[in-house]
Amino acid sequence: MENIGLYIHIPFCKSKCPYCDFYSAVNKSETYDIYTEALIKSIGLWHKKLCRTADTLYIGGGTPSLLGGERIARIIDAAKVFGSFKEVTVECNPSCVQEDFFKIIAASGADRISLGLQSAVESERKSLGRLSGRKEIEKCIKDAQNAGINNISVDVMLGIPGQTKSSFDETVDFCISCGAKHISAYMLKLEEGTYFYKNRHKLDLPDDDFTADMYLHMVSRFENAGFLQYEISNFSLPGFESRHNLKYWNCEEYLGIGPAAHSFIDGRRFYYERDTAAFIGGADTVPDGEGGTADEYIMLRLRLKAGLDLDEMKAKYPDEDYEYIAQKAKLFSENGLAEFDGKRLCLTSKGFLISNEIIEKLIF
Ligand code: SF4
Repeated sequence: MENIGLYIHIPFCKSKCPYCDFYSAVNKSETYDIYTEALIKSIGLWHKKLCRTADTLYIGGGTPSLLGGERIARIIDAAKVFGSFKEVTVECNPSCVQEDFFKIIAASGADRISLGLQSAVESERKSLGRLSGRKEIEKCIKDAQNAGINNISVDVMLGIPGQTKSSFDETVDFCISCGAKHISAYMLKLEEGTYFYKNRHKLDLPDDDFTADMYLHMVSRFENAGFLQYEISNFSLPGFESRHNLKYWNCEEYLGIGPAAHSFIDGRRFYYERDTAAFIGGADTVPDGEGGTADEYIMLRLRLKAGLDLDEMKAKYPDEDYEYIAQKAKLFSENGLAEFDGKRLCLTSKGFLISNEIIEKLIF
């Protein structure tokens, strides 16, 4: 059986960013120990139940670094019951990293960190509610490297209130020169229930045309600097693609532990409710139906630069209408939205910009 990916959710943050709808709570430090114990117990139970091995571990949130190095190291050690990992990622917020954090997690096996930068421009970071400044981010990167963690990913955001071409270029310059090996670049989405959503009419948001131009500009700047685009929002130096996240896009199996964490195992999807107290109390997961359908496969594969290999797909889903897919693929390719050689369909950067519309046309 194939190795699965293991995801652990840490549902705590120092403060709530105004655009974020991830499941996390603030001011809960009294819960950190009991939550860590609940995670460790749950990891052991899941291992007994599934009898599977995992080769990637991703500790995300929330803000995992808020738990401190010792608790994160205990979680990593407990997770080793699933086997030896080829990649162990810990998400870090530069404003919540204690002295020696990286040394401690590196000693337990963490070899990759993902840093929430969002923007290198102070005024933009402030408008996003980010507490740390550029200096803290630079220190964080240096400390991680000194601890032996060189596989560093930074998150950046397009479409931030007040963002201009020159301010975005400043962020791109920083990403290219800061020592990161991987960059995730997401467009700001106004998620219902967030502060930004409620105040959307007051925000000075760049329009869609500007954001689309910035996306194409960013792709060419990163690629010229050696960061190859391998997914719609992800870039890396060769060999530094995220192994864990590739499992999601390749439609492979993964187990998520912690409130709001989702799983896909044995063709079924399931998740934990967004409720930390219930998780600590031993709540069960909620079934979320069948997964790994042909539609899902198309949707996920087309996020990847490597695209959709029709021969591979036929081996998995022999009953799909491949003539219809090929017909549509030719049309996208004639319009510069994709490349199609009769066997493999890959979206171009222009195609990535309207990937939802393209996918809809292929699967309905
Ligand atoms: S630190 Fe991250 S998870 Fe926490 S509120 Fe901000 S964006 Fe969301």
